[in-house]
Amino acid sequence: MHTYTTRSPEETIALGEHLAKLLTGGHIITLEGQLGAGKTTFMKGVATGLGIHSPITSPTFTLMNTHPLTNQSFSTLIHVDTYRLESSEDLVDIGITDYLGMPDTVCMIEWPDKVADLLAEKEVITLSFAHSREADGTRIIESSVKLD
Ligand code: ADP
Ligand code: MG
Repeated sequence: MHTYTTRSPEETIALGEHLAKLLTGGHIITLEGQLGAGKTTFMKGVATGLGIHSPITSPTFTLMNTHPLTNQSFSTLIHVDTYRLESSEDLVDIGITDYLGMPDTVCMIEWPDKVADLLAEKEVITLSFAHSREADGTRIIESSVKLD
């Protein structure tokens, strides 16, 4: 595991931009950590790093946001947020299996526990986010891949 400390949203975004450089089609990235820990903020950095200019918001109600890409080696970035999901079935119903692990797609999944069954056989890059003990803007981010 690689551990990073960020002291502001901007630093977390910068870390996300680093991950963007490493991504290739088929990658699945899981983002764990409690509400407000910085998962979506990190996502913004990944999107920026991939040249996405549309605003990144958590797909809390839509479950899945699809971002087409024109300038990368893969054509779609999928952003999933399972926070309001009952079971992985709902995600399957809206087509996640068309994207998950597919060579032309990168999938990033907030709250992966709820869809653990879909990820069981898959190779996944894991990231976890936590507030530091000080109640400031510091976050501890653990990554299964080196980001710097
Ligand atoms: P999550 O998706 O994990 O629920 P968000 O990224 O939506 O969390 O929200 C994180 C909140 O914490 C944002 O309001 C952000 O501005 C704030 N914040 C403060 N410090 C940091 C930091 N170091 N990294 C990320 N977010 C931070
Ligand atoms: Mg979020």
